[in-house]
Amino acid sequence: MASIQFLKGVGPKKAELFGRLGIETLDDLLFYFPRAWEDRRLAPEKAPPPFLEPAPVIRGKIKAVRDLYTSGRLRIFKVVVETRYGEAEASFFKRHSPRFDVFALLRNDLKPGQVVWITGTPEDPLFLSRLRADEYYLDSDAPALKTHVGRIVPVYPLTEGLTARFMREAVYQAVQAGAEAAADFLPPALAMRRRLIARDLAARAIHFPENNFELMQARRRFIYEELLLMALAWAIKKRQTRSVRKGFTYEIKKNLLTPFRERLGFQLTSAQAHAINEIFADMQALTPMGRLLEGDVGSGKTVVALSAMLLAAENGGQSVFAAPTEILAEQHFITFGKFLGGLGVRFALLTGRLKAAERKKILADLAGGKIDILIGTHAVISDGVEFKNLRLVVVDEQHRFGVRQRAALRAKGDKADMLIMTATPIPRTLFLALYGDLDLSVIKEMPPGRRPVKTTEATEDIALLAAADEVAKGRQVYIVYPVIEDTLAADMKSVKVEFERLRVYFKGRKVAMLHGRMPGEEKKLVMEDFAAGRVDVLVATQVIEVGIDVANATLMVINNAERFGLASLHQLRGRVGRGKWDSRCLLVAHARAGDSADRLRAMVQTSNGFELSEKDIYIRGAGEILGLRQHGDMDLNMADMSRDKDILDIAIEDREALLAADPDLTKKENAPLRHKLHALYAARWNLIDLS
Ligand code: ADP
Ligand code: MG
Repeated sequence: MASIQFLKGVGPKKAELFGRLGIETLDDLLFYFPRAWEDRRLAPEKAPPPFLEPAPVIRGKIKAVRDLYTSGRLRIFKVVVETRYGEAEASFFKRHSPRFDVFALLRNDLKPGQVVWITGTPEDPLFLSRLRADEYYLDSDAPALKTHVGRIVPVYPLTEGLTARFMREAVYQAVQAGAEAAADFLPPALAMRRRLIARDLAARAIHFPENNFELMQARRRFIYEELLLMALAWAIKKRQTRSVRKGFTYEIKKNLLTPFRERLGFQLTSAQAHAINEIFADMQALTPMGRLLEGDVGSGKTVVALSAMLLAAENGGQSVFAAPTEILAEQHFITFGKFLGGLGVRFALLTGRLKAAERKKILADLAGGKIDILIGTHAVISDGVEFKNLRLVVVDEQHRFGVRQRAALRAKGDKADMLIMTATPIPRTLFLALYGDLDLSVIKEMPPGRRPVKTTEATEDIALLAAADEVAKGRQVYIVYPVIEDTLAADMKSVKVEFERLRVYFKGRKVAMLHGRMPGEEKKLVMEDFAAGRVDVLVATQVIEVGIDVANATLMVINNAERFGLASLHQLRGRVGRGKWDSRCLLVAHARAGDSADRLRAMVQTSNGFELSEKDIYIRGAGEILGLRQHGDMDLNMADMSRDKDILDIAIEDREALLAADPDLTKKENAPLRHKLHALYAARWNLIDLS
């Protein structure tokens, strides 16, 4: 493949800069997609697509130029231009230099009588005819007119040392050269049916479209192909996982399950029972389970997981339960103790802070099959723990467990059953796209008697009064702050500073502090005290956001609520409303940041996690929520799974049809597609039957 150095103006130095952007060959450059487009035409088309930004540009004959000083440091070069629509003015700004004339080049280029194009930002949004100038091009400079002005212009992610202008010129050359990578790989019939433009045409038009329509077509084409490839990769991955034989079978003996059920003290909801049935059916199958259990905060996922682990234990198999944090693992250990007491099931907690001897003992017991259920954090589980016969992996994902980590865990226990639990539900299409290798169970119903937590915005004073009120009634309160210690970011309150203040405020009551940097033993004691009602007010960071279950806690105060994401706010709110009293969540915003108003409004409007999650995806975009771009698990450059939901639907439909007609994509017309799929995903996802 031709190196980027083949291009005019690109030597070893520039090549290194391109390398930083992952561009080494002409093919790379051709597929270095713009992140946006600017409309630099003098008369843009009507009804532009939403992703095409109008960019101020003026063209005309220069009437006069003026060189001005302002404060002595800054110099301004003003150009007055006679345009088709009247007089316009553009100002270039430069820092003064005593050593040379900073405007020498400009004065030489921009002489009265010349016809010039100037782009920039309007000095006043109402007067587009006054620009703070950015780039200029002479009308006599024919190549510039092909790439930089008078057309729709691509906007690329850049790096220090590579200007927008240089990048556009480089890509333009790459487009002229054409590239092997632009060859089409979709079966022609499919491209035709979906009315996709040819790939080489799209590869040109995505950078330098002739008009709005061409740009939309090119964009659509690449979004579609990226999503189709990803959907195919998931399907193949799923088939691969399911082709394995577990080599063990289960029998529902009920010698543990029945006493467990009898001692619960409540009836399973029908949603829980349904999920358990689906899980048991998977566990009894010959191929390994890969199932995602979605259920809102407090919907009772733990009992479902316990049932699965007991089925494994009844059959002599070991299970591991992985929690996102140590605090949570400890909480679960306590909860398990309550549910499993007297059943004769052997369970243990493995955290990073066990003493060496304790750890050694647990590891030996695990290897010797003397432990049925191991509880730990995601990290502990993945790091070299040996089981005698691990048959079930349960991951309490909450919203912290990345796509990558999950893949790693799955890779470990190929033959074990795997159950992943999440409180962050996602729309069906997104599920198919992100967890395409899993099956789905949903708990849609809450245990009876739950009352929604009333959520409002409040001032800090009102929130503290409310807290005092609850405590006076014998209830308990959480007060959350975004950081542990005060930082330079003065608008964020911290646990340590506020704890001292609140101790005085709630004089005579027991106030405690909890944050992630406390020694583990201390954290544990605080949690135990709070659970036992020996602490009235718990001043904490987000560490308490998941898993903590204290029925007597009825008020959650979240300070600097503008700093928290929707998922976190919802999780925090889920800590209250767990008992027989009415509960409240008060959001104290100390400032407005970004889309915080939207988030807080969403919190006030609904307490339903499914609805919130949809709103979250709408507010932030799926890429950000799920951390997909950073993870690089998928090859998506143009597509955004939440924004492009409709195209994803189509891609999934086409995937089904393709695989139904040609399961291994071995037919002649599918060979290029298979080839492409192999190049992109075989190594990344370890897809063995794609070779
Ligand atoms: P999550 O789905 O958020 O993990 P948990 O499993 O922690 O929820 O359950 C929340 C609380 O509801 C726990 O105290 C649990 O014992 C209780 N619970 C679970 N299922 C039921 C049920 N069917 N009826 C009543 N309470 C239940
Ligand atoms: Mg839970």
